[in-house]
Amino acid sequence: MTASLRIAHVGKECVACGCCARVCPRAAIQIAWGISACVDPELCVGCRKCAQVCPAAVIDIVEREAVL
Ligand code: SF4
Ligand code: SF4
Repeated sequence: MTASLRIAHVGKECVACGCCARVCPRAAIQIAWGISACVDPELCVGCRKCAQVCPAAVIDIVEREAVL
């Protein structure tokens, strides 16, 4: 599969509610240690679904080069 050019990036203000993980079609998000959402760059396709449901608005969809 061709890699997406975009990827979800979670900001420090994440409150670990888990909403993003529940809607991700690729199961790319884990709530690490119950503290913060963590995106697996191998799975994320930058679809933006997580950003749309985040109640804290801390997810940005960014260029892959910015985070890898
Ligand atoms: S939906 Fe937003 S606040 Fe909730 S776990 Fe995901 S990134 Fe964090
Ligand atoms: S952008 Fe899409 S694939 Fe990537 S973590 Fe968010 S919901 Fe999952």
